[in-house]
Amino acid sequence: MRTRRFTSVIAFVAAVGVTSAQRGPFTGAVEIKPGQECPPGMTEIRPRICQAPQIPPPTIVDYRPKSTLVVPTHLVPKAKFPAIDFHGHPEGRLNSPQTMAELIASLDALNVRVMVAADDMSGAALQRALTVVRGSSSKDRVRILAGVDFANVGPGWAAKAVQQLEADVRAGAVGVGEISKSLGLSIRKADGTRLHIDDPDLDPIWDACARLNLPVFIHTADPEQFFEPIDMKNERWLELALFGNRRYPEGQFPRFEELMAERDRLFKKHPNTKFIAAHLGWHANDLGRLARMLDEMPNLYSEVGAVLYDIGRQPRFAHDFLVKYQDRILFGKDSFQPEEYPYYWRVFETQDEYFDYYRNYHAFWKLYGVNLPDPVLRKLYFENALKLTPGLPQSGWPK
Ligand SMILES: [Zn+2]
Repeated sequence: MRTRRFTSVIAFVAAVGVTSAQRGPFTGAVEIKPGQECPPGMTEIRPRICQAPQIPPPTIVDYRPKSTLVVPTHLVPKAKFPAIDFHGHPEGRLNSPQTMAELIASLDALNVRVMVAADDMSGAALQRALTVVRGSSSKDRVRILAGVDFANVGPGWAAKAVQQLEADVRAGAVGVGEISKSLGLSIRKADGTRLHIDDPDLDPIWDACARLNLPVFIHTADPEQFFEPIDMKNERWLELALFGNRRYPEGQFPRFEELMAERDRLFKKHPNTKFIAAHLGWHANDLGRLARMLDEMPNLYSEVGAVLYDIGRQPRFAHDFLVKYQDRILFGKDSFQPEEYPYYWRVFETQDEYFDYYRNYHAFWKLYGVNLPDPVLRKLYFENALKLTPGLPQSGWPK
C-alpha cells in the first residue's frame, strides 16, 4: 500500500519535473536531485520530494510543541552535595548587608554553599564588597576574584597591574577573573592595535598569578556560531537575532579560531599558572577538542557555566568526558538566576530523558541526564575548586 503510493508519486513527480503539481496526495510536490535541498518554505516529505505546508507555518519564535513523552521524572531543586559556584555574578548583591542576605537565602535553597564572585572587581570596589562580606553573618559564603584592567597596555602597564593585583590579594581576593571576552575581541593597546590574548606585555601579570598561587578564570571569545553567517544553518539564529551585541561579523572582529589560537598559546606559555577556561572553553559541542587541550596542558581547568545545552544533548559522551577529566572541571553557573540552577543538578545527577532546557533561544532541543557517580559529582561541585583555590573556606565540607 505504502510502496504503491510512493511509487506513483515518484512517477508523478518524474513526469512533472520540478514544477508544482495541482493534484495528487502530495499537493505542490517538488522533486530535488540527490544532495540538493528543498526550496525555501518546503520540507522533504519523502526522499527527494519536497512540499510546502498547507496552512501557514508558525515562526520559530512561536513554535512550542508540547512533548507527549511520558518517562520517569526526577526534579532536583537542591544539589546533592554543597556546591561552589565558581562563575558567580552577584553584581549589585554585595552592595549591602540586606542584598547579601537575600543572595544567601537563594543559595541556601539550591545548596550552593559558596559563591565565587567573578565580577572583575579591583581596588576600591573590591574592598567595598569585601567589607560587606566580612560584616555579614554568612562571611564564608562568598569569595571574590580580582579583576585586571587592560586599558592602555604598553610600556609601564605591567608593573602597575601587578602592584594592583598584589594589593587586591592583600585585601582578600582569592583568584583572578573573570577575564572578559573583550580581551581578544575588542580591547586596544595604548598604540591602537588589538590587544592579543597572548601579548608579551601581559606576561608579568600571568607570572604574578603563578607566584601568588591564584587561579585565573578566563572567558575567551563566544560560541563559534556567533562568528558565522546568521543564516538558516546557524544553530544560534534566534539568539543572534535577539541580541545584536553577540554578532561578530568577519572584518569587524577577529575570527573564532584566531582567538582560540591566542588563548592556547597563552596557556602553554605559562605552564605554572593555573587557568580555568570558562564555559568549557566554548568547546562543549566538541568535547574531544577540549579533551586534547586538557591532555596537552596540565595547567588547564575548565568550568561548565552557560553551556548546559551542549552537555545535556550528548549524555553518554559528556558522561565519559566528565568522568575521565573529573579532576579538571568545576561547577559554575554564570548569570545569577536562582530558578535555573536546578536544571544543572538534574543534568548532572539524574538519567532523566528529553526534558526542557530553560532558554529556548540557546537550544532548539531537549536535555538528558548525565547521571554522574557521587565521587565525580563531589569533585565537580566543590573538591576541584577547593584544591585550586586555597583562599576558599576549606573546612566544613562533607567527608
Ligand atoms: Zn561570566
